[in-house]
Amino acid sequence: MTAVIAIHGGAGTLTRGALSADREKDYLDALDHVLQGGQAILEQGGSALDAVTEAVFRLEECPLFNAGKGAVFTEQGGHELDAAIMDGRTLAAGAVACVKSLRNPVLAARAVMDDGRHVLLVGDGAEAFAKSAGLELVSADYYFTAERYAQWLRSQANGSTDLLDHDAQAMQHEAAPIDAESKLGTVGAVALDRHGNLAAATSTGGLTGKRAGRVGDSPLIGAGCYANNRTVAVSCTGSGEMFIRSLAAYDVSALVEYRQLPLDEACRIVVMEKLPMIDGRGGLIAVDAQGNVCLPFNTEGMYRGQARAGGPRRTAIYREENRRAN
Ligand code: ASP
Repeated sequence: MTAVIAIHGGAGTLTRGALSADREKDYLDALDHVLQGGQAILEQGGSALDAVTEAVFRLEECPLFNAGKGAVFTEQGGHELDAAIMDGRTLAAGAVACVKSLRNPVLAARAVMDDGRHVLLVGDGAEAFAKSAGLELVSADYYFTAERYAQWLRSQANGSTDLLDHDAQAMQHEAAPIDAESKLGTVGAVALDRHGNLAAATSTGGLTGKRAGRVGDSPLIGAGCYANNRTVAVSCTGSGEMFIRSLAAYDVSALVEYRQLPLDEACRIVVMEKLPMIDGRGGLIAVDAQGNVCLPFNTEGMYRGQARAGGPRRTAIYREENRRAN
């Protein structure tokens, strides 16, 4: 069994015209650093669960992506983060939602899963639990980045709400490759380890300008995150409400399990047919029990990468062009 990991840093509209080569390189370098962390764990015989935890932890630490540091602003100018993790071996899962002071929501999700008593904790209760598990709490200004703040000010001025992070960024002067003002942006990882176990993790700041208390698909098992050793591990990014209504992550698993479709076809049906029927924009990353990887999106771009144990690390932003191997 060749271990493999795939990651995403959100999907959205591209801002190619406004993009400098340096800026693009920043994103590809950041994705490579994240992949490296997960790949190293898999190469040492570590678990898929540890690999996705490490990858999403690194994505949360990177201010370029909408999770942890760099999370987008809510309508009120705050930050509310969501995360989930799932173990395909046992179907154990953990998640936190609407947390405002956790440095790494994915570690809190993992602690909820490891504790085993509940699956989803929200708000103050989630924060108190994370604190008791020894996780780091931060003040609200920890999440602040000038780019996200400018993005929020513009979304307020335009009266536009619920922007996908990478669409929203397209409205910036120093644009990112994917438009942050289209409101999308989430991070995630899926992996298969050498023992044949699958795992998935997803973490997000949600949509720019979202209402206080709004929870997206990311922390909802079966919507934005799902893993089952019998089928697939999936992490989604996109317009969360539509991913919730579609149960997108679980739908990929169900198509593989019940219709016995190959992974590519199951992903195509969900991302290119079913989500667009309800205006669902975004993409997902998936790896199946045989180690096939599929990274589909119905937007112009998605920050993404994949690596097999001992193999090259591939990162990409746009469609097939611009793929970089390290
Ligand atoms: N799916 C996330 C949410 O709705 C946002 C995103 O992936 O861009 O919270």
